[in-house]
Amino acid sequence: MATAYVGIGSNLGEPERQIEQALELLAAEDGIELRAVSTLRWTDPVGYRDQPRFLNGAAEVETSLGARDLLGRLFEIERHLGRERSEGPRFGPRTIDLDLLVYGDSVVDEPGLTVPHPRLAERRFALEPLAELAPELVIPGAGPVPALLAGLQ
Ligand code: ADP
Ligand code: MG
Repeated sequence: MATAYVGIGSNLGEPERQIEQALELLAAEDGIELRAVSTLRWTDPVGYRDQPRFLNGAAEVETSLGARDLLGRLFEIERHLGRERSEGPRFGPRTIDLDLLVYGDSVVDEPGLTVPHPRLAERRFALEPLAELAPELVIPGAGPVPALLAGLQ
């Protein structure tokens, strides 16, 4: 079993509702136990700025799945909730975005799977919910969450 953290975001349709559904689907998966969910917060878009604000949060799960299988389930849930990956700008609007932020103390860099998530250390909207769930968490290869947050201007 591994403890993993999943980043959650949505800025199309009804974000509260889609996030609630994503959490229900996550909890219903075999091999995934939903342990805790952070508060959700509205954040300004980063990267591609001409889009609605995002509702962001994170979840702590306990899982018997490997990192790649877990990410595969996250993609299935995204598809189920209507996410279209083929169109639109990178970092553009989405009905739901589920990212594998951290998987135990694993460091993986393979095609299609980078853990910890490659942009975690620079994303306040991902670090703040993590700090809430696990104030002591050290991001493998990057450092303690509070130090990473303090490093953002
Ligand atoms: P982001 O999540 O950074 O806003 P996307 O959701 O569009 O951007 O994901 C871009 C790609 O990153 C996905 O196609 C996925 O295969 C890849 N990826 C690699 N590692 C991860 C990870 N740990 N979590 C989520 N996606 C990942
Ligand atoms: Mg994603």
